[in-house]
Amino acid sequence: MKFIDEATISVGAGKGGNGACSFLRLKFMPFGGPDGGDGGSGGSVFLRADESINTLVDYRYVRIYKADDGEKGMGRDSSGKGGSDLTLRVPVGTMIYDEDTNELIADLTAPGDIACVAQGGRGGVGNARFKSSVNRSPRRTVPGGEGENRNLRLELKVLADVGLVGLPNAGKSTLISAMSAARPKIADYPFTTLYPNLGVVSVARYNSFVIADLPGLIEGAAEGAGLGIQFLKHVSRTRLLFHVVDIMPVDESDPVENVNAITHELEKYNPELLQKERWLVLNKTDLLPEEEVQAHCDNIVKRLNWKGRVFIVSGVAQRGLEDLAQQAMYYLQGQGVSDDEFN
Ligand code: GDP
Ligand code: MG
Repeated sequence: MKFIDEATISVGAGKGGNGACSFLRLKFMPFGGPDGGDGGSGGSVFLRADESINTLVDYRYVRIYKADDGEKGMGRDSSGKGGSDLTLRVPVGTMIYDEDTNELIADLTAPGDIACVAQGGRGGVGNARFKSSVNRSPRRTVPGGEGENRNLRLELKVLADVGLVGLPNAGKSTLISAMSAARPKIADYPFTTLYPNLGVVSVARYNSFVIADLPGLIEGAAEGAGLGIQFLKHVSRTRLLFHVVDIMPVDESDPVENVNAITHELEKYNPELLQKERWLVLNKTDLLPEEEVQAHCDNIVKRLNWKGRVFIVSGVAQRGLEDLAQQAMYYLQGQGVSDDEFN
């Protein structure tokens, strides 16, 4: 199962600087010639694939990117300085489309791949260049060219980095909404009734990961009943699992038993899933008075004999979520970039 992360941005290359019209005028040199320099060319905009970036989420915050204009030419045959190019970093695998024509401009498949998406304007021509035997004092110049402007659509197929498991009503969907900065779309999703709930969690600039809530992971799923099996398959491709637990279920079921039921489900599907990094995310802590939360959670952890990491959060009250996101990012970065392919 692949998801599509996308962003639309506008890029503008710099305008070329105008050519100068100037004549050398020195006190003892009355017939100084034309000396207007050329304008500098405008900066271009490039997109470059960078392995350290996972998602396009940063391009949802800032959407307009402009390279510098070239400087105009000056007297004494001085050319204007060229405008600096602008190079934007995007994840490896980013496809770049012209948003207006739908044309595929480039597909940056390997780290370091680079595409020019907006060409800088040509520098103008100064009058010095128009000097000839018949015209020793040309006033003619050529202005700088306009830089290209383009609307781009960036698309990236992503796999979820973090998968959520837990019983229905544990608060998985709520947790994703509370943590997410953006919602990727689903690519070629075969089911019409049940959609995984996805989010991009943005931790800092260029630090983000994709999280997926996989509905349907309920008792019986491992036997292939219903759609659960599809989600279990997907779970096995994520690098980190959050096991979300309602610490105060309304049906008064025991959170410990609820955790064990899911653990059992994972094991039945594939015992190797139990080797996967799984963090206990004790959720809905807002339902208890603050001073009781720690003891209540300690008790669950102890009864579970849980050896892994534990996070105490509330999706609704947005408690503990930043730490959870930050720790997940550290973990994923420590794992390196996954080249795991699915489908
Ligand atoms: P999911 O089935 O695991 O996706 O669970 P949902 O996110 O749909 O939440 C199930 C129910 O629990 C909803 O009524 C939510 O409003 C509620 N809920 C989710 N997170 C919290 C939380 O942190 N605190 C409280 N008090 N309720 C929550
Ligand atoms: Mg849900």
